[in-house]
Amino acid sequence: MKNIYLNIIKFNSKNLNKIIKILKKNDIIGLPTETVYGLGGNAYSNSSIEKIFNVKKRFKKNPLIIHYYDLNHAKKDVVLDKNFYKIYKKFSPGPITFILKKKNNSRIKPLACANLKTVGIRFPKNKVVRKILKELNFPLAMPSANKSSSISPIKPLDVCEEFKNKIKVVDGGVSKIGLESTVLNLVGKTNILRPGKITPKQIENVLKTKIRISSKQKTIKSPGSFRKHYSPGIPMFLNKKKCPKKYAFITFGARYPVTRNSFNLSRKSNLNEAAKNLYKYFRNIKKKGYKKIYVTKIPNKGIGYAINDRLKRASSK
Ligand code: AMP
Ligand code: MG
Repeated sequence: MKNIYLNIIKFNSKNLNKIIKILKKNDIIGLPTETVYGLGGNAYSNSSIEKIFNVKKRFKKNPLIIHYYDLNHAKKDVVLDKNFYKIYKKFSPGPITFILKKKNNSRIKPLACANLKTVGIRFPKNKVVRKILKELNFPLAMPSANKSSSISPIKPLDVCEEFKNKIKVVDGGVSKIGLESTVLNLVGKTNILRPGKITPKQIENVLKTKIRISSKQKTIKSPGSFRKHYSPGIPMFLNKKKCPKKYAFITFGARYPVTRNSFNLSRKSNLNEAAKNLYKYFRNIKKKGYKKIYVTKIPNKGIGYAINDRLKRASSK
């Protein structure tokens, strides 16, 4: 097997030039963000977008999030309205994606947005990806760096494993949050299409209106909201108090004993720590060869709501 470490690019000034060259050639590369690792390519190039869809084996109707360094670049491609500015000021750069109207003269390729009239944009906070975005004269189309419907990667080695070492990945450490961004729709009725670290309450406090989380969608608004997603690929059972020894038991809080088959998301009952551990445990459990996963109840507040959302999708058949 090819040495996987050869595919992990250390971030320094010499390699920054190398990374920029790769992206300018319309090649794709794994990049760190504070949410999860992404698979980035030039959003103005059909060939790089094609590569992203092909490598991920992603359904073409599932639009990609477009990542920008700052507003100067974004405003050329999308319509920025009042509500956008309010939320942007408070939470960007950071783990929130905005669905906005695409401008007629936008250079984002229709293929990146599944031919929709809207675009999902984000301003990631991770320092490494920001330094890269700053050097580019195009935004990056960047979905999570995993095969479609699989577990999102939170460190460079995860990306190497996902794509069997075919993709180079820039080392930006372990993703600080460990769960995908909140997707906030600002076209038509404002609502959340995918829960994340930024909660509806936080958005309500800024916009001063009630924000709903859309559960089911008739049309494809946000395929991250497809039921089967984020999955370790083995049966998962939720809200369990006990678990047979032969299965993996994902727990939360100090009351659960440390056993060989237990994976405690946070002994301190800290939901941010739990979010960061979730995908790490999914991968470990899969590697250890467990055939089933039982999960205890996780509090449904703050980022806990997003954790429960991913657990529900991962456990859906
Ligand atoms: P990922 O593939 O993990 O990066 O997730 C991207 C999420 O953003 C998916 O749920 C997409 O469907 C959603 N998304 C991106 N662009 C749009 C858009 N224009 N409208 C609705 N959802 C979008
Ligand atoms: Mg994804």
